[in-house]
Amino acid sequence: MKRLVLLGGGHAHVHVLKVLGDALDPAVSVTLVTPVARQVYSGMLPGYVSGHYPLEACGIDLEPLAKRARALVVRSSAALVNTSMREVICVNGEVVGYDVLSIDVGSRPAATDVRGVEAHAVAVRPLERFAQGWEKVLDRARQGGMNAVTVVGGGAAGVELAFAIEQRLRQEPGAGAPHVRVLTDARSIVPEYPVAARGRLVRLARRRNIGLHAASPVTEVGAGFVRVKDAIEFATDATFWVTGAAAPDFLRHSGLATDGRGFLSVNDFMQSVGHPEIFGVGDCATNVASPVPKAGVFAVRAGPALAANLRAALKGGPLERHVPSARFLALVSCGTRYAVGVYGPLSFEGRWVWRWKDRIDRRFVARYSPQALAAAR
Ligand SMILES: Cc1cc2nc3c(=O)[nH]c(=O)nc-3n(C[C@H](O)[C@H](O)[C@H](O)COP(=O)(O)OP(=O)(O)OC[C@H]3O[C@@H](n4cnc5c(N)ncnc54)[C@H](O)[C@@H]3O)c2cc1C
Repeated sequence: MKRLVLLGGGHAHVHVLKVLGDALDPAVSVTLVTPVARQVYSGMLPGYVSGHYPLEACGIDLEPLAKRARALVVRSSAALVNTSMREVICVNGEVVGYDVLSIDVGSRPAATDVRGVEAHAVAVRPLERFAQGWEKVLDRARQGGMNAVTVVGGGAAGVELAFAIEQRLRQEPGAGAPHVRVLTDARSIVPEYPVAARGRLVRLARRRNIGLHAASPVTEVGAGFVRVKDAIEFATDATFWVTGAAAPDFLRHSGLATDGRGFLSVNDFMQSVGHPEIFGVGDCATNVASPVPKAGVFAVRAGPALAANLRAALKGGPLERHVPSARFLALVSCGTRYAVGVYGPLSFEGRWVWRWKDRIDRRFVARYSPQALAAAR
C-alpha cells in the first residue's frame, strides 16, 4: 500500500481530495494533515467582512471531502518534514509516514515580528483566526467610541479589506463610521497593478474617505496606536495586519530546497527540486523557472495537474508539466457590491464586476459542497 500525505487543505488539495474520492484506489492510503476542519475561501473574506455572506457560506468543509476520499484526517499542522525518514512531524506530536508528500499550506503574513503585532493587531492569517478577531472588533465598534481603524498592507487584500471594513462599520448600527486608513511601506497601494487600475482604486478610496498612506513602514503596533518609521504615530482603535505573503518556516527548517524568500522551490512538474517525491503548490511553493504571483487562482489552476501527478508518482507513470501563465484576472471588491477588475493592462469597474466575482467565488465553493460531491459520484 502506497502512502500519500496531503499537508494543508488549500485550494489545490480540495480538488485533489475530490478527484481521489471520484475514483477510489484501494492501493493508496491517504492522510490529510490540517489544523482546520473548514477551509475559509479568502476570495469571499472581504464579502464576509462587508456583511454580504455569513462565514459558513465562505468555507469548504474538509471532513466530508476527506471522508469521501477515504482519507485519514490528522487535525494538526506540520512542524517539520524528515525527508530521510519520509515522515511528517506534526505540532501535536503525531508522526505521519509518506511515500509521496504534497504540500499546499499557503503562506503567513509578512513582518509579523514587528513589535506589538502579535499582541495588538489582528493578522489576516490564519483566516479562521482573522474572522474571530474581526467579530471582536465588530462587537467593540457596536458599543461605540471607535474613531479609527488601521489596515497595515496596501496590496490587493489589504485594500479590499479596508473597503469592506469601512463599508461595514459605516452601516453597522452604533459603530459610528470610524475613519479607515491603509498604511503601506510601498510607494503606492497595489504597486503591481497598472496605473489605470491603481487610479480607480485610489479614486474609490478617496470617495469613501479611506486614508491611503504610502511609504509608511510600520515599526510598532501598540494599544491604541500604530507607529511608522520616523516616529509618526497614528491613533487607532483596531489594527489589521494584511502584509504580503511570507513562507512557512518549517519548509526551510526541514532542509527542503527553498527560494530566496523561503518558499519551496519546485520544478515544472510541481516537484521539490531537491526531493522528487515531494510536491508543492500554491502560495507556499515557487516554480523557480517560471514564478507567478502569490494568488489563490494559481493554486486553483494547479489542482487538476497536481491530482494527476500525485497519481502518477504513486503508480510510477509519467508526470504532467504545469506551467501557468502569470497573467490572471483579479477582481477587487470595494465594499458596496462594486468591484474593480484587472487583467494584464486592462481594468474596469462596476456593479457588474462585483456580480461576476460573486458568481465565480460562489461557484468555486459550491463545487466542493457535500451536495455537489454526492452528485459527482
Ligand atoms: C483578504 C484576501 C483576499 C484574497 N482574495 C484573493 C482573490 O480574490 N483572488 C486570488 O487569486 N487570491 C486572493 N487572495 C490570496 C489567496 O488567499 C492566496 O493566494 C491563497 O489562499 C493561496 O492558496 P493556497 O492553496 O496556497 O493556501 P491556503 O488557501 O492558504 O490554504 C492553506 C491551508 O493549509 C493550512 N496550513 C497552514 N499551515 C499548515 C501546516 N503547517 N500544516 C498543515 N496545514 C497547514 C491552512 O490552515 C490552510 O487551510 C486573497 C487573500 C486575502 C488575505
